Amino acid sequence: MAELPQERRLVTSIPGPKSQALLVRKTAAVAAGVGVTLPVFIARAGGGVVEDVDGNRLIDFGSGIAVTSVGNSAEAVVRRASAQLADFTHTCFMVTPYEGYVEVAEQLNELTPGDHEKRSALFNSGAEAVENAVKIARAYTKRTAVVVFDHGYHGRTNLTMALTAKNMPYKEGFGPFAPEIYRVPLAYPFRWLTGAENCAEEAAAQAIDQITKQVGAHNVAAIVIEPIAGEGGFIEPAKGFLPKIAEFARQNGIVFVADEIQTGFCRTGQWFACEDEGIVPDLITTAKGIAGGLPLAAVTGRAEIMDAAHSGGLGGTYGGNPVACAAALGAIETMREQDLPGKARRIGEIMLGRLRAIQEKFDVVGEVRGRGAMIAVELVEPGTKNPNPAATAALAKACHAEGLVVLTAGTYGNVLRFLPPLVIGENLLTEGLDIIESAFSRL
Ligand SMILES: *Cc1c(COP(=O)(O)O)cnc(C)c1O
Repeated sequence: MAELPQERRLVTSIPGPKSQALLVRKTAAVAAGVGVTLPVFIARAGGGVVEDVDGNRLIDFGSGIAVTSVGNSAEAVVRRASAQLADFTHTCFMVTPYEGYVEVAEQLNELTPGDHEKRSALFNSGAEAVENAVKIARAYTKRTAVVVFDHGYHGRTNLTMALTAKNMPYKEGFGPFAPEIYRVPLAYPFRWLTGAENCAEEAAAQAIDQITKQVGAHNVAAIVIEPIAGEGGFIEPAKGFLPKIAEFARQNGIVFVADEIQTGFCRTGQWFACEDEGIVPDLITTAKGIAGGLPLAAVTGRAEIMDAAHSGGLGGTYGGNPVACAAALGAIETMREQDLPGKARRIGEIMLGRLRAIQEKFDVVGEVRGRGAMIAVELVEPGTKNPNPAATAALAKACHAEGLVVLTAGTYGNVLRFLPPLVIGENLLTEGLDIIESAFSRL
């Protein structure tokens, strides 16, 4: 197939007539609960561009929610997954195994933080990985409680809905939820009432106090935390908070689980966001960026913890599908060969520079934050810290109309978030930022 030109091109309004016709069919055929951010139907995609059925080319600042970090249909992903498709598509690893699964586990064991002995298990989705991390931690500790944080997001299955903080849209009407889940404060510097400088210390003290007083540390199987809260609004916990929580877990025999499903695989400028403060998690969950767009997820961690679940206790029909494993090996090859951690850092420099200049000019910008290619703008009512979801929605809409795919996030729905593919060209990145700036001007 011909290379997709790496340029924005608008030939109809957004969405165009063919997308609108498909949207009518979608509404008639697809459950209403499955919403869409931007109803342009995609025909092909690659690099930093998605092309719709009307022939419009949009700049991609979303990567399908941090998934296509290596770009859509990346060469090594296509090559390896196609070869695997032709060889065999499925045997079920639990019935008759295959090498690709083992190779992905070896890569995960090598790439994740810490040089201790590790094991991995593969699954289909992020939520499934988080559920399995909890199963493994419970089997290892013989305890039941799980501690999670304000603004946390861990998925949409029953257990992971319980782990997720935000009610609307994830939980509303879908209970009852799994028991033995306890939520404690997250060090959110921008919104910490006594000021960002006190945030790490005070939030850690409050979290630990709540765990100790309300749950009992000896009852806690796992502490599950995102090193940067993704859906919660790209909240980077104040420096010092994560090490304090990890140390508390270590002292109390609690399994420390880093949910790196959104932050992992080069997204933040390092292979894993935990590395930023030298955290070595006991278990780490990965998905999204792992396989260049194919569904794959993993739990990786200390051998003695991972091996605590009895034989046959972990798995699933499709977990570690051979085509998805081949795609993951292609994605990892791309990340190594093209130095995608370095590319993510460069994207971060360019975006933060431009967005901080925008912040100087527009007082709806409360904060610009993030690392690498995981960057966000939190919008407020001017002169206050009151969340401004209306401005956020208007800005996203304005960007969409100009052919730039952006996403929103945040507990208060007031965060514009940017997750470009790490292979995006600098010209497209700059053009996307120009569109964002002009959207602010017209707000
Ligand atoms: C997306 C996400 C999940 C859930 O992954 P799915 O593949 O959608 O089930 C869990 N944790 C984090 C941090 C995520 O960003």
